[in-house]
Amino acid sequence: MVAGSCHCGAVSWTFEGVPKSATSCSCTVCRKYAVLWAYGAEGENIRVSGPTKAYIRLEKNIGFHFCEACGCIAYWRDVEPDKNGRREIAVNLRLAEPEDVAAIPIRRFDGLKDWKDMPDRGEHVRDLWS
Ligand SMILES: [Zn+2]
Repeated sequence: MVAGSCHCGAVSWTFEGVPKSATSCSCTVCRKYAVLWAYGAEGENIRVSGPTKAYIRLEKNIGFHFCEACGCIAYWRDVEPDKNGRREIAVNLRLAEPEDVAAIPIRRFDGLKDWKDMPDRGEHVRDLWS
């Protein structure tokens, strides 16, 4: 399991197992937040807790949730569950302890123009901090 929490500790998440990749997305939102996403479904492999505010991106129907106190982006998730009650969510791996996510490969995603993966550079999360 990998866990993350915001700077003040009020908001946290857990991810069952170890994420296969950490997505760095170039879209208009992710680029500005400088987040690294690990994806799943709420209540399945991902659980969240703590009080957040959300910035709702209407055209995608997802909310970017951040800690009211310290401002860290903790996760995004669907505004509403789908017809099967499933809610897609992704947590920000930058909120994890560095050693817990160090070996996870970085997946670079072109969310700005082509909506597809960019060439793999063979980087891992540890490369961001070393
Ligand atoms: Zn906080």
